[in-house]
Amino acid sequence: MNEIGQNIQTIQNDINKAAKEHARNVNDIRLITVSKKQPEERIDMALQAGHRIFGENRVQEAQGRWGKRKLEYNDLELHLIGPLQTNKVKDAVALFDVIQTLDREKLARKLSNEMQVQDKKLSCFIQINTGEEEQKSGILPSELKDFYDFCQKDCGLLIKGLMCIPPQDDPPAAHFAFLHKSAQDLNISELSMGMSADYMTAIALGATYIRVGTGVFGARIT
Ligand SMILES: *Cc1c(COP(=O)(O)O)cnc(C)c1O
Repeated sequence: MNEIGQNIQTIQNDINKAAKEHARNVNDIRLITVSKKQPEERIDMALQAGHRIFGENRVQEAQGRWGKRKLEYNDLELHLIGPLQTNKVKDAVALFDVIQTLDREKLARKLSNEMQVQDKKLSCFIQINTGEEEQKSGILPSELKDFYDFCQKDCGLLIKGLMCIPPQDDPPAAHFAFLHKSAQDLNISELSMGMSADYMTAIALGATYIRVGTGVFGARIT
């Protein structure tokens, strides 16, 4: 097993352990390896190790990295986890399987239109700005219910999950707990939360997708 494969295995072992500890089904907790700004060899090592679920935060960068690999691997699952500009929606719908950063009406409308044009139905997650940070994407917690209804009913989008990125300098647990509670209230099944530093906390609080970059691939190249 190559080094990246071993890192993935280590995290999978953590997932197994946490699942047991919190009486959760281990298959309900999936690892998204975040490949943004990682060298090509490391991505190939993850693929060679059999891993197939990847996250990217920029459409253009992801096209370069995954366009060809998508033809080679038909079982890839690509998640967009960074902000999506409306002028990139067409490319995003063509490339990705899941959009995790749905956070405004204009984007919801555009995604809905584009999915019809391309005859593709991607799963979407709503991103919540749980820390109500000025610079961060995501809807405000108070907007969730109306926005969810708008996405589902007015746009016909398939809302499968909620996603958050807690503020850097805040303990993440309260944010994860909030996301969990919000999902329960709306009967939403998937929760994307937890990164390299806090995925065990996220699993304890109900994460169904954890997003790990440096913890799998090492430092990013800038
Ligand atoms: C980069 C990124 C991650 C991965 O962060 P690490 O600390 O490297 O695990 C997770 N989620 C989002 C939204 C990211 O942009």
